[in-house]
Amino acid sequence: MPAVKDQAIVLRRLDYSETSQVLVFLTRDHGLQRLIGKGIKRGTKKQYAIGIDLLESGHLVFVKSTQGEGRLGTLTEWRQTQSHLGLRDNLQRWYAGQYAAEITTAMVEEADAHPDLFDALMELLAFLAAGNDPQEGLVRYQCALLRTVGLWPDLTRCVACDRPAPEGRAAYFSAQQGGLICRNCQQMSTEIRKVSAAVLTGLREGKWEQITIQSALNLLDFMISHIIGRPTSLSKLSLEG
Ligand SMILES: [Zn+2]
Repeated sequence: MPAVKDQAIVLRRLDYSETSQVLVFLTRDHGLQRLIGKGIKRGTKKQYAIGIDLLESGHLVFVKSTQGEGRLGTLTEWRQTQSHLGLRDNLQRWYAGQYAAEITTAMVEEADAHPDLFDALMELLAFLAAGNDPQEGLVRYQCALLRTVGLWPDLTRCVACDRPAPEGRAAYFSAQQGGLICRNCQQMSTEIRKVSAAVLTGLREGKWEQITIQSALNLLDFMISHIIGRPTSLSKLSLEG
């Protein structure tokens, strides 16, 4: 198997043995890659002797498993280019970065390339590291992720009966059905949320105001949790205030 070079962000890391780590990377041109880094933690004088850290980004070289897709490939080289230091000295920003990594790992298919999503995540990490409002960065990233995987909710009409949703009005949202539900159809669904007109406008136009961000973030998280079939760690972010 030939070696593959790419840029990558570390989404998950697991200590595998005294000297190895299993890492999940979002690469720019090769999508999600689960790789084993053998000897990475070994205490030599090499630059990555202490191991590879979560949410750092850099250049990697890896070899795909000879046993086919779904098996762990092997990381042969890692050169960190950014540690996004500003993420690490504030708990809210750190949780925000972890949340982005968590939903990315859960929603993106392995080895499915999404360069735009890679760029969006790099942008988010830089945004967070610079000390900006985590919620604003996360809403933008949730939108990018849902669009990338083709699961952006339909906010223009009732997804059950096709009736157009009037602009400037609150509406009911169904995570299960992936969009808005009109008053006539809403009894058909048990998991619905009411969404204010301001939040809907923000989501439709991608424009955020401080007052709508928290609700938009929670609504998209509600949708994402439904898709991945479990609650996310977003509550950590809100609770710690
Ligand atoms: Zn309807």
